[in-house]
Amino acid sequence: MKTIDTLISDMYEVIEGKGGWDEAITQFLSHEISSIAEDRFSAEQKPRDRLSLSMLGTPCKTKIWNMVNDRASEEPLSAEALGTFFYGDLLEAFIISLAKAAGHTVEGLQGEVNVFGIPGHGDCIIDGWRVDVKSASNFGFEKFKKNSLKEDDPFGYISQLSSYLHADQDDPRVTEKNKAAFLVVKKERFKLCLDIYDLRKELDLKEGEVNRAKEVVQGDEPDYRVPPVAEGKSGNEVLSVMCNYCGWRKKCWPNVRTFIYSTGPKHFTKIVREPRVMEVTE
Ligand code: SF4
Repeated sequence: MKTIDTLISDMYEVIEGKGGWDEAITQFLSHEISSIAEDRFSAEQKPRDRLSLSMLGTPCKTKIWNMVNDRASEEPLSAEALGTFFYGDLLEAFIISLAKAAGHTVEGLQGEVNVFGIPGHGDCIIDGWRVDVKSASNFGFEKFKKNSLKEDDPFGYISQLSSYLHADQDDPRVTEKNKAAFLVVKKERFKLCLDIYDLRKELDLKEGEVNRAKEVVQGDEPDYRVPPVAEGKSGNEVLSVMCNYCGWRKKCWPNVRTFIYSTGPKHFTKIVREPRVMEVTE
């Protein structure tokens, strides 16, 4: 039986046409793509308004509160963002197909899990390991390659992975009970990496993490804001990555000034040196 140590090299061999891809895998991938498209596009997506495991690790408690109590103020996702999420889903279905074709045991796809009453869906179990499949930009991929998510995790991926592993403690299909992995594909140019974390500390702290999140959503709206960050050495300050991608940015930061750079918009909370690019009103 294959083990997770050879997963990446075995998947590359499938890509090189060295066997493993058969009609059953083609059928599996076709079915996955059809159901993802149907789920995403046959009706407008309704965001969740109850606490879920994917929300739990969100580093901003104001965002957790908003996700449960104030979906009405959330900026709707653009077609560009929704289409981009679909790209990610396609890649992830392809990666799971490759792992299957490579002869590894893939089970528990999108299986339901529950951690102290909070529901969620884990991606899969590969060769007895809890695995979360991710597609990442060049920048994001480097963080997985350097195994650095415990130091820099703005989207709470470690919390998510450790929640799934917590739920797996009594699942006989999961034989590795202390560690779990991200199986990551780079979006811009095909590359894979398996990023493994020892999650014993996170498992021990899970009950407290869940209880704190429950308290946040049942309480009053927090006035916490993720602190802005320095814009180089200009003395200016701009919104953090977390706030930039947050649907409640305008609610939390009504007075920012937005300037358009070649890399995208920047939202300034403090200006010492005036930017030399166009300002827009949002
Ligand atoms: S905009 Fe920033 S501070 Fe406000 S909820 Fe979102 S992440 Fe938190």
